[in-house]
Amino acid sequence: MLQSLSKRDLLARTLDVTGGGRALLAVGAWDGILILNYHRVGDSSQSLFDRNLWSATDADFDQQMEMIAKQFDVIGLADFERAKHERRGRYVMVTFDDGYGDNYTNAFPILKRHGVPATFFLTTGFLDSQQVPWWDEIAWMVRTTAMPALVANRWVTAPLKFDEPNREVTIRRLLNVYKGLPDEVTDSYLSFLATTLQTGRCQKEAADGMWMTWEMIREMRSNGMTFGGHTVTHPVLANQSSAQQDWEVGECKRRLVEELGESIEAFSYPVGGRSSFNGFTRAALAMHGFRWGFTYIGGRHEHGSSDPFAINRAAIELDVTPPMFRAITTLPQFFA
Ligand SMILES: [Zn+2]
Repeated sequence: MLQSLSKRDLLARTLDVTGGGRALLAVGAWDGILILNYHRVGDSSQSLFDRNLWSATDADFDQQMEMIAKQFDVIGLADFERAKHERRGRYVMVTFDDGYGDNYTNAFPILKRHGVPATFFLTTGFLDSQQVPWWDEIAWMVRTTAMPALVANRWVTAPLKFDEPNREVTIRRLLNVYKGLPDEVTDSYLSFLATTLQTGRCQKEAADGMWMTWEMIREMRSNGMTFGGHTVTHPVLANQSSAQQDWEVGECKRRLVEELGESIEAFSYPVGGRSSFNGFTRAALAMHGFRWGFTYIGGRHEHGSSDPFAINRAAIELDVTPPMFRAITTLPQFFA
């Protein structure tokens, strides 16, 4: 990422208004595959869960899909291998991580309308257990606690406030603590928060409709959508032992093949930054027959780049304005 989003957004608006984007485009038209990454689509404003997971409102997503369908060669996972080996061309792919229910209720009708064949990376354990994931549970605790603040403790080095306008920052801090923990203590951390914030653990009923069902997924598949792996329980794989990683990758694949009855070749790393996967992760992917590993590292996939287990994707988030979306897709070398 070049700059903070607000600066990039300002630049995107300026280019948009002055037509400078078109001038730059004439100078440096991009080549390659631009892979957009979404999580949730819809209205986040009343949610008790992690609102950062929403990538777009229905209206924004509709506009974004309309634009890429008109202006680019939009491809699905089935054409990824071919596009990777092209020497030229500008391809756009749409991907979703996690497997949230709104991918079916909100995004799927819009994708169908615009003929966009998207790829969905599924966390199979969430679909099977219909449970609330750790990031949504932490957000839920902060939004429902009656406590005003958290004092410094063995997990968090500085005090945190739970009231507005500090609440969102507090959620981000507590999530970052989780992401840095060795896998074996993450549950103690959640129990500590549940006790200290006096909310208890988030009940399973809160997850009603949170995740897609396998029936929904099969319906989407018969309408041109494709699916890949995203582990069983959504850990930060690099924080796990090689045996645990092997299980997360292998069991996820086994469930996908069992439910979909087809070979599954693509995987995306939970959290997805450079430190979220390592050599053991790559080995597990190769061993279980995955051909591609998709990251959450920004940028585009350039023609000729050779690492199949570190494919870049550009994050689309709620604060991506229409000028910013145009900048990301027309000038990904600067904005994606
Ligand atoms: Zn994820």
